Order: sequence, then structure tokens, then C-alpha cells
Amino acid sequence: MFQDVAEILVRAGRGGDGCTAFRREKFVPKGGPSGGDGGRGGSVFLQADEQLTTFADMDLRPEYRAKKGRPGEGSNRTGRSGEDLVILVPPGTMVKDPDHGHTLKDLAADGDRVRIATGGRGGRGNASYKSATRQVPRACEPGRDGESRKLFLELALVADVGLIGLPNAGKSTLLSRISEARPKIADYPFTTLNPNLGVARIGVARSFVVADIPGLIEGASEGAGLGHRFLNHVKRTRLLVHLVEGMPSEGAPEPTEAYRVIREELAAFSPELAAKPEVVVLSKTDLTPGILEGGILEGEDSVLKSLAAESDKEVCPISAVTGSGVKDLLTEIARRLFSEDE
Ligand code: GDP
Ligand code: MG
Repeated sequence: MFQDVAEILVRAGRGGDGCTAFRREKFVPKGGPSGGDGGRGGSVFLQADEQLTTFADMDLRPEYRAKKGRPGEGSNRTGRSGEDLVILVPPGTMVKDPDHGHTLKDLAADGDRVRIATGGRGGRGNASYKSATRQVPRACEPGRDGESRKLFLELALVADVGLIGLPNAGKSTLLSRISEARPKIADYPFTTLNPNLGVARIGVARSFVVADIPGLIEGASEGAGLGHRFLNHVKRTRLLVHLVEGMPSEGAPEPTEAYRVIREELAAFSPELAAKPEVVVLSKTDLTPGILEGGILEGEDSVLKSLAAESDKEVCPISAVTGSGVKDLLTEIARRLFSEDE
């Protein structure tokens, strides 16, 4: 399974202490008890939000605390409740008990929400202890602790973007390059992502999962059950990124031919996948400032043009080694993935 995992500690707020106070009013010689109750501590919620794709989008911290309740006050005033804390997570997040591993809640869809730690009750103020036999109670109660618990969060990663292309086109290199864009956040125990899958991050809170589809297919032939898993991974794929190298090595097909071969293979393998929108990429541009073709030295331009003509698409030139064009490619991918819902 390709997963994002994180372990967090959540602490609900402590309840505010009850208050001991007595009414002091002019012309009222013996005022009664008037200490108010403490406010309830804030609870911690987890809520699925469709704006988030992976844990890289979250404001991920080792520990989260909701606010404390305020103490009660004189004149029977109850303390203010502590504010609840709502932690937003990507839809699909499973909330598990780290000790026993069982699932506490599956936050499958946008808006799904669970109170995962309840705020402590506020302590009673002395006013609430008043009774017929007990006119001058001095006792008040401290606030109760809020719940605190460790949680294990788990998210199955499903590819948004599928990389395709002939062997040697530069897929693995591009994948490792754009996955580096994912910052290491403190010492969270993220799983080491499979080399065929990476999380690319753009800006502050936008990420997407990229899969090397031929890599997954190769993996699928290695073990039982992987075939099904493979299909699971690509079924959400919304965009194909098709890499073609501008200067193939001896015996390998020319760029336009390479493009055609992969399109045909894909159509035979999965018509559904083949029907997905595609971004065409000319890779390894650092190697092709000039290309010898039919004895004439032609520029990278000509490969771009022939590839554009063959695919009927604009072609993005990149070098995963120098990084040239990679940022523009990521921007284009993000535009295709996210523009419709923003
Ligand atoms: P894949 O088979 O599509 O996954 O291709 P790889 O990423 O493994 O790349 C194949 C070869 O091309 C490797 O030797 C890479 O180092 C090299 N390569 C990949 N991208 C670039 C690039 O942008 N520039 C250069 N000069 N070499 C590259
Ligand atoms: Mg590879």
C-alpha cells in the first residue's frame, strides 16, 4: 500500500476552575455564595476537507491543543468555554488507535467530522453548592482535564497524475525531482513513498500524487494482488504526463514514433486511461540544444514542432537534471488539476 502516515497527539482543553466568591452589596450584610462555574475546555475535532489532498497540505504538527475553559467569576458568572480546535485533514484519512491499530473513524468524504477528544468539564463554583442546610459553602471545584490521546492518521495515496513514456524517457528522474519539492516536516514518520509514487507540492497547501505508470505495471507483475492495487491507483488519475526524449539512444524510436508507440500501448492496455487528458513533455532538453536530423542540424524547436503536430498538443520542454522548465510544467499540471474547482 502506498500511504501517507502521521502520528499526532491531540489534547482537549482543561475545564476552567470553579470560583469561590460571596456577594458583597451595600445593605446586604451577609451576601450568599456567588462563585460561578468554570467554562468547559475546548474539544478537538478532525474534519475532512476536500481542499487537502495529502498530509503535505496539512498544517501538520506533533501536538495539537484546544483552548482551556476560563475560570468562573464572582456574581455567578460562568467562565467562558475554551474554543474548539478543528484539524482539517484530506478526505480518505483513517483515524486509528496507535496502540491497537483499530480504526476509530474513517473520514471518507468532504465535511466528515469527528470529535476525537472532549474538553474537560468546568469546575463548579461555590454558588452551585448552596443548599437549605449549607448556606455558606466555601468549596469550589477545579476544572477537569480534557481528554488527550495519541492518534495514528493514515491516508491511502491514489495517483492524480500518471507519468507515461518509453523506458529511459526520464520518468523516474522527473518523479524524484518533483517529489523533492515535498518538504521534510520535522521528524514525522512519513512512510518512505514507493519509488513509483511521489507527492508533489505546489505553493502552500496544494499537493498531488504522481505515479510512474509503467513502474507500477512492472511492480504489478512481481506479486500477487498488485494488479488490483495498480488499478486502484490509476483509476483516480485525472491527467497523464507523457514524456518523450528529444534525442533517443541508438535503436530507440524517434520522438514522434516514441509518442505513437506509447499511445497505442496505452489504448490497448486501458482505453479508460488512454482517454484521460494529457500533457506532452519533451524531456532532457539539456541534451538537445541542437539535433542532427537527416544530416541537417536542427534546433530543439523542430522536435517540439513535430511532437506538437503528432500529438496535437502544446509541448512542454523540460530538463529534470537542470530543472529547466520543471516549474512551468508543475504550474501547468496544477492548472489542469485544480483550476476547475477554484
Ligand atoms: P525512465 O525509464 O523513464 O524512468 O527514465 P529515467 O528517469 O530512469 O532516466 C533514464 C536515463 O536518462 C537516466 O540515465 C537518467 O539519468 C537520464 N535522464 C533523465 N532525465 C534527464 C535529463 O533531464 N537530462 C539528462 N541529461 N539526462 C536525464
Ligand atoms: Mg523508471
